[in-house]
Amino acid sequence: HFLYSQTEKEKWALVIHGGAGGAPKSMISERKAEYEKHLLEALQIGKKMLSDGASSLDVVQKVINYMEDCPLFNAGKGAVMNIDGIHELDAAIMDGSNLKAGAVAGVRDIKNPINAARLVMDSTPHVLLIGEGASAFAKSQKLEIVDNSYFSTIERTNQLNEIKVSKEDPDPRGTVGCVALDVKGNLAAATSTGGMSGKKWGRVGDVPIIGAGTYANNNTAAISGTGHGELWIRRVVAFDICALMEYKGFSLEKAANEVIFNKISPMGGSGGGIVAVDKEGNIAMVFNTGLMHRAWAKSSGEYGVGVLKNDEKIWKK
Ligand code: ASP
Repeated sequence: HFLYSQTEKEKWALVIHGGAGGAPKSMISERKAEYEKHLLEALQIGKKMLSDGASSLDVVQKVINYMEDCPLFNAGKGAVMNIDGIHELDAAIMDGSNLKAGAVAGVRDIKNPINAARLVMDSTPHVLLIGEGASAFAKSQKLEIVDNSYFSTIERTNQLNEIKVSKEDPDPRGTVGCVALDVKGNLAAATSTGGMSGKKWGRVGDVPIIGAGTYANNNTAAISGTGHGELWIRRVVAFDICALMEYKGFSLEKAANEVIFNKISPMGGSGGGIVAVDKEGNIAMVFNTGLMHRAWAKSSGEYGVGVLKNDEKIWKK
């Protein structure tokens, strides 16, 4: 029995998401292929690092950096804008080995918000820094500072203009997240976003709220969420999944399904999903929307990518 479980357990595992949302008609195969290509590139960074023995914390940060720099996703370059046409970014990272966490919210000029979140965790006694204070801290740490216009893309400007007219989000939002289990058995989670397109009054979403959009605990799982952040905050989604595992003995899959379909879905709103990995290397990718950009890899050699529901390409090395 012991030998069996030993061979079954993954040495490392990795899951990423690039946001969830409706599956618009405009999701033509070309655009899907573009998402898949960049998801697989981000995945490759994490696969390489984990198989070389890197810590899950370094892996989730580096994978998120790639996705923040990629204009396709709603994080860093390519982030959505608030109603005034300004980018305000949120990010968080959590270390499942000691429950340390760091986050920033509403930042306008930090090129890679996840790097600021990591430094909040590593170099301050705090968990969450906001706005100008977060920027002053990032500058003091010599992080790269950019003009707010750096984050802009023509697609996001068009999207904001459409929202102003139709009051609806016309495109999947594209928040990014990464969770990983490393060879030492440590779990980590990271999430980065521009938030919801057209948001108002300094709105902060679920992403930098520890336990809502981001959570990691070596005893249970690492979770990163994407979707209608207000619901994720009110349901404390990421923590709730871990709590169901810890207190009720649910498997990761069962806990994630319970929270997304039985708690989030009945609340209405535009929904979303989560990616997660548990301490055994089991993964979950659960969403109640038309699509969730996602990719995963395991030490056993399996890896894959998916965009629409029931639409996954899987490889075995
Ligand atoms: N959850 C993010 C937020 O509400 C948005 C998203 O995931 O698309 O800020």
